[in-house]
Order: sequence, then C-alpha cells, then structure tokens
Amino acid sequence: MTNVYHIVQFQSGDAYVLFYGCHWRCSYCVWAFEKWNLCLPNDLKRKLDKLWIKKNIKFLSIEEVVGILKENGVKLAFFGGGEPTIDRELKPLIKRLKKEGIDVWLVTNGELLDKELVDLVKGITFSIKALDDELHKKITGVPNYKALENFKRFAKSGKIVAETVYVKDLVECDEILKIAKFIVSLNPDIRFRIDPLVQNPVYEEVDECIRKVRKILPNTYRIKATGKGKLPNLLYPKLGE
Ligand code: SF4
Repeated sequence: MTNVYHIVQFQSGDAYVLFYGCHWRCSYCVWAFEKWNLCLPNDLKRKLDKLWIKKNIKFLSIEEVVGILKENGVKLAFFGGGEPTIDRELKPLIKRLKKEGIDVWLVTNGELLDKELVDLVKGITFSIKALDDELHKKITGVPNYKALENFKRFAKSGKIVAETVYVKDLVECDEILKIAKFIVSLNPDIRFRIDPLVQNPVYEEVDECIRKVRKILPNTYRIKATGKGKLPNLLYPKLGE
C-alpha cells in the first residue's frame, strides 16, 4: 500500500497526488490544518474531512493509483503532500507509471533524495526552508545539512526547481537572499520559486524580495493565481463511495 490518500486533476490535465505524512515538523506547514488540495471549494473539503474522521478513506495501492491516473488521461502527475519520499512504494509506483507513459514531478524537502529517484522523475521542486542551520532547526526540527548536500549533488541535474516560503518574521528577504546566493554558487540557471505563506501571504513584501533576488538569480518568480481558472476535479476520494 502507498501513502497516497488524495488525487485531483487540473484543467491542464495534470494531476496532483498527495502523500500522507512527513518526517519534518515545519512550524508553518499547511498540512497541519488542511489535508486536501487548497484549490478545492471549502464545502467539499469539509465533506472530505468528515470521511477522514470516520476513517472512510483508504490509502491506495500502486495499481489503484495507476488505474485512476490512466482512466483520466493523466500524462504528468505532481507528487507532493506531505513528503512523498518517505513512502517505500514511491519508486515502484513511479516505475509502474513510466511504463504507462505517465511522468512524475516530485515536490520534496530533498532530504531523502537519491540518484535513482532523480533519474526516475521528470522534475523536482526542491524546497529549501532556510540556509541558516539554527533557523532551519527552529522551523523544521531537524538540521539542514543532508538536504543541502543533496541540493549540491543534484543542482546540475537539469531537473531541479528551487523553492522557499516567505514567512513574515521568520524567513524574510535577508534569509532568502542567502538561499539565492547558495543556489547561484551551484548553478545560476536554476529557477527559484518564492511562495507566499498560505496563512499570511504578504504579496507586496514577497514581490519586493523577488525584485532583489532577481539581481543575482534572474529566474526567480512566484506563482500568481488569476482566480479565473476552473476548480480542480476531485479524482480521489470520491464522495459517496
Ligand atoms: S517538509 Fe513540507 S510537508 Fe514536511 S512538515 Fe515541512 S512543509 Fe510540511
């Protein structure tokens, strides 16, 4: 059985596959209060909460994940959550999906990455929480040397997009500039995504920071929701099943 408990599909046809659990404890982790894809409407998320509380949602087997993605014509699946790399079924699942012509893009804290995994996936969003080790421990509960070693190791793989979260009074632009310098020292062509914190998105500060970071790392950006896109389609769990 995998750790997969939730799948949605976007208008583009790509899917987002959510894995349960993480070995870190980030103080701002959105999954501490929301298990479901954030783009789903609140009433639907509350119905899913009820199913979860009643233990009416089961984790999926590899074949069940493959079946759902195939049935819905998915060609690219983002794997996130949660932390997909703690799932022992992750590699067998990706291999099985590749046989069906379905690519995987991994969203990870990077600590448990290895070469086989990097070779298997189409791309990786590698989240760097902080460069300063004390700050990293304060946020996540663990030191950052393993994750940073992996970032160094795979920075030239051509598959990495770096990401960090701008958190007011915790991870602000001075820290993010340090992360950017670290990235530039390894590969100046890496794209760097700065996410506003979901719970307190200080967009103007983030945009100001992006302008500063672009002076040393031009491929720095944030995702801007237009609010005009269609809601994602819930593939699993299905309500009423
Ligand atoms: S690494 Fe990601 S999933 Fe894990 S606790 Fe931190 S924010 Fe949450």
